[in-house]
Amino acid sequence: MKLKSLLFTLGALCACVSLQAEKYVAGPKGGRLLETEPNKAEFFVTAERKVEVTFYDDALKPVSPGEQGVKIIAEPAGGKAPIELEKTPTGFVSKTTLPAGDPYRVIVQTRANAKAKPKNFRIDLNLATCGECQKAEYACTCEGH
Ligand SMILES: [Zn+2]
Repeated sequence: MKLKSLLFTLGALCACVSLQAEKYVAGPKGGRLLETEPNKAEFFVTAERKVEVTFYDDALKPVSPGEQGVKIIAEPAGGKAPIELEKTPTGFVSKTTLPAGDPYRVIVQTRANAKAKPKNFRIDLNLATCGECQKAEYACTCEGH
């Protein structure tokens, strides 16, 4: 048991190191801004644990998703769970709440249009609030986190 928890700790440390290399940008809602084409998308989890994806132009004004598509797959310990989305005037919102058991990995797959190659974003869904920037950990922008 001791070895197992040590390995887990090491694994968690490694995850931190690899996270550090990426630079996260905060979205207007306090979520994470994803570099999608042609418009940027913000991944945000509401207080009800629903996922909201909002598209923005260069001035960070919400815009219509147009032809941009999004797929979200939650990966809790129990197995992969696709999250069904509904189109909104400025993006997508999940029809259901995120599965329990976070932190876990969430894959956000985006496409510029139905024929474009998909781009995957891996988000470590940690909904705890960061003590420094007061954002949720999955959207934390602090240096060295
Ligand atoms: Zn932070």
